[in-house]
Amino acid sequence: MYSAPVGILERARVEWFAAAFGLVVGTTMVFVPYEFGAALFQHIYPHVRPLGSLFLVGSATMLVAMLYPGWNAFVGWVGRALFVGAVAFYWWSTAVLNSSLTGSILYPLMVGALLLERTARFQGRGLLGVFIACVALSFGGLMALNPQTYQRFSLLESVPLVRWMGVLFLAMGALLAVGAWRQRPGACRLALGGLGVLFVNMTFALGARASWAGMGVYAVLAVSCLVLLLLRRVPAPAGVRWRLFRGMALASVLPILGLGAVTSTLAQSALEVELREKARQAVAAETAWLDQTATVASSMLRAQSRDAAFVAAARAGNREGLRERVDLLENDSGLFDAAWVLDATGETLVASSRLKRSGNFSDREYFQQALKGGDEVLLSRPFLTRAGLPFVVFTAPVDLGGGGRLILVAGLSLQRLGLHPTLASRSYHVELFDRRDGSLLRETNRGDVLTRAPVLGLLSPESLAAPEGMAEAFDARGRRLMVAHAQVTDTPWTVVVTARLREAFAPVTRMGAWVVVIAALAGAIALVLSQWVGRDVAQRLEALRDGFASLGTPALEGGQRVQARGDDEVTQLASGFNDMAARIDRTQKELREAIAIRDQFLSMASHELRTPLTPLKATLELLIRQSEAGQELNPERKRATFARLNRQVDRLTRLIGDMLDVSRLQSGRFTLTVAPMDLGALAHEVVERIQSSRPERQGLLSLELPQAPLVGRWDEQRLDQLLTNLVENALRYSPPETPVRIRVVEEPDGVRVDVEDRGIGIPRESLSQLFTPFYRAHNATEHYAGGLGLGLAICREIVERHGGLIQVTSAGPGQGSCFTVRLPRAAVVEAAA
Ligand code: ADP
Repeated sequence: MYSAPVGILERARVEWFAAAFGLVVGTTMVFVPYEFGAALFQHIYPHVRPLGSLFLVGSATMLVAMLYPGWNAFVGWVGRALFVGAVAFYWWSTAVLNSSLTGSILYPLMVGALLLERTARFQGRGLLGVFIACVALSFGGLMALNPQTYQRFSLLESVPLVRWMGVLFLAMGALLAVGAWRQRPGACRLALGGLGVLFVNMTFALGARASWAGMGVYAVLAVSCLVLLLLRRVPAPAGVRWRLFRGMALASVLPILGLGAVTSTLAQSALEVELREKARQAVAAETAWLDQTATVASSMLRAQSRDAAFVAAARAGNREGLRERVDLLENDSGLFDAAWVLDATGETLVASSRLKRSGNFSDREYFQQALKGGDEVLLSRPFLTRAGLPFVVFTAPVDLGGGGRLILVAGLSLQRLGLHPTLASRSYHVELFDRRDGSLLRETNRGDVLTRAPVLGLLSPESLAAPEGMAEAFDARGRRLMVAHAQVTDTPWTVVVTARLREAFAPVTRMGAWVVVIAALAGAIALVLSQWVGRDVAQRLEALRDGFASLGTPALEGGQRVQARGDDEVTQLASGFNDMAARIDRTQKELREAIAIRDQFLSMASHELRTPLTPLKATLELLIRQSEAGQELNPERKRATFARLNRQVDRLTRLIGDMLDVSRLQSGRFTLTVAPMDLGALAHEVVERIQSSRPERQGLLSLELPQAPLVGRWDEQRLDQLLTNLVENALRYSPPETPVRIRVVEEPDGVRVDVEDRGIGIPRESLSQLFTPFYRAHNATEHYAGGLGLGLAICREIVERHGGLIQVTSAGPGQGSCFTVRLPRAAVVEAAA
């Protein structure tokens, strides 16, 4: 049965989910902070970058601790602490302060599962499955009970559909919980698939509404469901390629993200400073222009109202004279669009020619004010004229003397005010409003609006109360605005300039987005490169591993077990391995040969020991039988029998002596006892002895000796053994009818002994090994089955201990051989030391 989902559900850790979530949210916050867009984040905006950095650092540390499980657990705890801190703040400001139920549930669930996973009870287990089931159940409940609130979580915003979505969430969550508990892989797969689809729907729905952070969470949830559904087991990445990727990715992505974050923060703060400065300048220019306009208008009106000719005309009731003056105000000032003279009851005395408005103005607020006030020039609120034109008017009282009063009114059309292009109106959204009632006089290029100033819907009047300042606000769609404002001196007017930060910071956001793209690209390149480089290294290491596994078995043709190409450390390792393997092969071969020689020796030795024993035993039995039977042998036969017995015992003694000598020789216990002696006499004695025991060689054994005795300090017994061995060999390895020559020659620094035969000779390849213990040339084994290959080894030892040299020459098989021994007069006797 395919049981992967249950297996993986028990192992998959919430920490991976948390790290992915932290990276997504942190990256969005740090690199594209003004794309957050929703009013949900208004409490975060002032801290968006620090919070994003906290998310990034926390989740990156968690990730690193998970990627390097061998590191100190402290690193993981630092990461989790930073992450939990970031989530707590995020949760408080987006979920609790905005009373978002889903968020209020989701983040505590995540943090709870993250910390629970670390307790001893859940050691080695992952709670990602449990977490997803809990999220599904709580979301399901909320959506089913209260579908209206969650319409934005569905691509299709219909209430019944959202309710159904809730029901589906509930069903899938329950199925997942039961499936995991009862170990039912099929149920788990179905639930994970269903939840994956539901979360994908939520992701797209939130994406369509530009809620990036929400989108990030649900995208990570959807991906988690799909990963759990598709993966067969929790990957335990290992091997060279993975290690390379891990290192390369961290080394490339993290610095890019870090550098990008610093750069975009710096760029943004520089941009912000500039933006503030420019907005302040724009407001100042606008204010200065309005201030000038109002001042000029007031002083013009004041001058007119006090002008003696004007006052005289008014006193005289000279309407023509007055009209001339108001026309002058309208036309020549270049400032006013109309002017009137009203009498004390509000009735129009004269009106300037363009507007020709007349009538009673006593109901007008500005008229009331002007009547009440002293001799100040007053500025009215904006109002619609009877003809429907938006105006503000300046009023100035005209004192006629004797208590008589007229009112001079000059009107300024807002349309004209709005049309005037200013520094601010060209680059910003500008609002000019009257503080007394908040009505709008100008909005960027429009002057014919008499609504309430929109900025007052975003900011409280108190925050605009200062003579000038800066504030931040969110518009109706949750977009962040920067607001610069200033009051126009001596007027009830306030100028407000607003800039949408999202647009202003678009270049920084674009740069941030590019940084993220480049970091992702770097990660991808790290992946490709690590696979590429790693494959080569991994293949070579695998070849080495196979090489190690095959150590001890015979090497293939050519002897090279592992290919060593290139010049890096792996190549050095491979050639080192090849050398080692070759040494091991050689040693093994030598060992095998030694074992074969030993086996051969054992069988030969037992054969050699038995050979004299058989006739020895037979003779002894015969003698016993005869003595029991009381038979007496004739003296001749008796001597022959005893001589035969003696020879067999000699042979046995020699064999055992050889074996003992070799064993002494190998253990370093072979010693000499030197004393003055005559080598010529010894050679004579040895030849005599051998000759007497080999009557068939009569006359074929020749000895050449110098006249004078050859006296030196040598070990007589050992030299006897040496000569006997050489002469016996010469006889043994040559046909009976061939001669053997022994020559003893005096040399300037010692003596030389040659033993020469015309026997079977020695193959060229055997010459060098002839003196090693147990070695026998193959032609010797054919010619003479007995022999243990010990004699020559002992000979060499004897000669070398005397400080001499033994050599052999032979022209090849069948060509005879000659053994030459050179001895110094006085033995060096190193062994005696
Ligand atoms: P053994 O004679 O018992 O085999 P030795 O150590 O005396 O042992 O000799 C070693 C080998 O040297 C012999 O087996 C033989 O192959 C070779 N050898 C020794 N002497 C002669 C010789 N005179 N002619 C040819 N081969 C010889």
